[in-house]
Amino acid sequence: MSYFNNKIVWITGASSGIGRALAIEFSNQGAKCILSARAKDGLEQTNRLTENADQNVVMPLDVTNEQKVEYAVQRVIELGGVDILINNAGVSQRSTVEKTEMDVYRSLMEVNYFGVVKLTKTVLPHMIEKGQGSIVTISSIAGKVGPPYRAGYAASKHALHGFFDSMRAETSHKGIHTLVVCPGYINTPIAHNALAGDGQKYNKRDAENANGLEANDLAKRILKAIEKKKTEVYFGKFEVNAVRLKRFLPGVLTKMLNRKFLKDPEK
Ligand code: NDP
Repeated sequence: MSYFNNKIVWITGASSGIGRALAIEFSNQGAKCILSARAKDGLEQTNRLTENADQNVVMPLDVTNEQKVEYAVQRVIELGGVDILINNAGVSQRSTVEKTEMDVYRSLMEVNYFGVVKLTKTVLPHMIEKGQGSIVTISSIAGKVGPPYRAGYAASKHALHGFFDSMRAETSHKGIHTLVVCPGYINTPIAHNALAGDGQKYNKRDAENANGLEANDLAKRILKAIEKKKTEVYFGKFEVNAVRLKRFLPGVLTKMLNRKFLKDPEK
């Protein structure tokens, strides 16, 4: 029987991309999913694609609304609690530092960092009370290495690593498993939904994402990492090597990223 059978898994950002693929995979393995994001129709569409739609709960939620997060956690506890929280909701960016407005940086932090912190710290006491639970957060390779056009996104993802390293140190003896996942390029609509420098949707296809790992492949790897109680994992194609290059050959990585930027400075 699957490790995930009958587990209750709460997935944010479940209306699209990686969140949708995770919902399908958890459901295939017998888990009951709570599906959250802002778009109710997108969540319902995800639910229809799952194995046991009638066992799942569609719970629209904007993770930047602290009051609504508290209310949603209360509802989830009343419904039976949560075994695995997947902090997956996120927004990317496609704009240079020179052309990005301050509000874009604030919006990215609100969703990718403060949204995750608020939901995590509201769920955490309930998991500690039970003496078990996994908190899984989808960071990025950009959470370890800052690529061009993504300064605000990379900063928001880097911040997650500091937060969760500290939280892991404080809670692992209480039965809390903390996993941070760093995907490389994944084939999802993330570029379309990314913010441009003026705060509008970027709304364009990104070849790197289109040629990236498929979301269902990533989802399978994430489930294995949860089962094995990993703490930090990197999944993708060639781009994943950037993490090791930064550690051992940082000058080479800088030159490579600068060259990549200069090929397409007006992206
Ligand atoms: P998508 O744009 O396809 O999905 C993003 C999801 O986040 C959507 O379900 C969206 O739903 C949700 N979301 C955005 N803002 C909010 C909010 N305020 N409250 C609740 N939900 C929100 O992108 P991906 O599936 O690719 O991205 C999922 C995660 O994976 C993100 O954290 C991203 O940074 C990360 N990632 C993705 C990579 C990739 O190459 N695709 C690589 C590395 C990391 P809605 O609009 O309905 O609210």
